Amino acid sequence: MFQYNTDFVPQPFGLANYSSICWLNSCIQCLLSLPSLNQYLIANEHKYKEGTFAREYSKFVRSVVVDKNNINNVGPLGMLLVSQATGPHDLINGASCANSAIVAIQDLLNADNIFDVITSSTIICQCRSNSTLREKNNYLRVDFPLNTNDPNVFREILMQQVHRVDYKCNKCGSDKAVRKIDLRRLEKIIVIPFHSKTLMKYSQWFPEFLEFPKPDDGKLTYKLCAIVEHSGGHYWAHINSHNSWYMANDSSCYADMYNCSDTPFILLYNQV
Ligand SMILES: [Zn+2]
Repeated sequence: MFQYNTDFVPQPFGLANYSSICWLNSCIQCLLSLPSLNQYLIANEHKYKEGTFAREYSKFVRSVVVDKNNINNVGPLGMLLVSQATGPHDLINGASCANSAIVAIQDLLNADNIFDVITSSTIICQCRSNSTLREKNNYLRVDFPLNTNDPNVFREILMQQVHRVDYKCNKCGSDKAVRKIDLRRLEKIIVIPFHSKTLMKYSQWFPEFLEFPKPDDGKLTYKLCAIVEHSGGHYWAHINSHNSWYMANDSSCYADMYNCSDTPFILLYNQV
């Protein structure tokens, strides 16, 4: 179901920026580059209530992916979607940040488990006392600089992160504990926000393909499909369409080399 298939990625296009919505435009341009999500939305369009953001967005995906409509006939998508985004997530008055926008859109689309990242988080004290919590998110959080340009090391860090935490052990009284986060399960899409203040200072390397071992000796491979970029208060996107890379900067959109930019804000991978 919803396998990687570039037939489900539209030809890239620009999106007009009418009211400082580069943060939303860049997110939409990135999400449209995820074939599994587009397939899911096309298949489930009828399940969304008429007039909701999810229904309008799914209709739009169908119009550019299946009907191959020219984006110029669709109108200013950013404004259309913003006007549809009512309810608990106020995309306009909320923080004008690509990360909030991605989270809000993920929630509004309610695309079953397609974005799920399951981790277990264990706090381990020096006295060996520990407690584990299973967590489900729709992104894979990275809390510290990865400092690597080796895809295997990058993967290992994503699979297990260990860092110091503020925690006072109620058995031995020590405050020297670590949190170990183990990656347990991934679905079709991995969203990796590179947005924390700690990370902004570092130039982050990231691979075009991610491979994770499966318990049955197989592997899960993910392809980088889009990057939300951020610098100087402006957001733009690098997106992959039919195996070519494009720069999408609001209404401007043109073919561009894949480069491991030093301004990544959010990485979006699709299982292949
Ligand atoms: Zn302890």
